[in-house]
Amino acid sequence: MRIKAFLVLTLCLVISTSSAQKKMSETKKAIIASVEKHKSNLIKISDAIWALAETAFEENQSSKILSDYAEQQGFTVERGVAGMPTAFVATYGSGKPVISVLGEFDALPGLSQNTEPTKSPIVDGEPGHGCGHNLFGAGSLGAAVAIKELIENGTLKGTIKFFGTPSEEKYFGKIWMVNAGLWDDVDVNISWHPSAEIKADVKVL
Ligand SMILES: [Zn+2]
Repeated sequence: MRIKAFLVLTLCLVISTSSAQKKMSETKKAIIASVEKHKSNLIKISDAIWALAETAFEENQSSKILSDYAEQQGFTVERGVAGMPTAFVATYGSGKPVISVLGEFDALPGLSQNTEPTKSPIVDGEPGHGCGHNLFGAGSLGAAVAIKELIENGTLKGTIKFFGTPSEEKYFGKIWMVNAGLWDDVDVNISWHPSAEIKADVKVL
């Protein structure tokens, strides 16, 4: 539900004209339908990234799972961007606006954990997903795919980019991607993070 709520928020940010009110509700339905269509695959992706629990710059399989799914959905994928082998950009569409969605996927050292609320390491001392970057990567990919499908069927115009940003827990991969100019043509960037509550903010830079 949290992912679905995020996607509806995404839509509200993307479409802001009051004359599009009727269209917006149709588009919301399309977004929800897309999430439902991909839901089981996105959950599998999230679970796989959780189980892999790959840490900074070693997220080889996690990055591949996300980028391969984007490619299967029709995105053009550029891997190893900004000098980081596990960083990638998946692009669909053309022209303005250019919308980007961030996806993180790295784990933390020493947080190996079963899927239960109290501390229960799978392997003591091994890495684990402490703040849900498995959800972050999979949920963001779902948002990007939903936007892509709206571009594909003519509901939206423009370009969608999914940024796979590695090593967010340690070296903040997206900073190196910004420095490499990968966001220079982006008009709006959408991101989120798993949390115990649902809230939203908008930053205009
Ligand atoms: Zn985090």
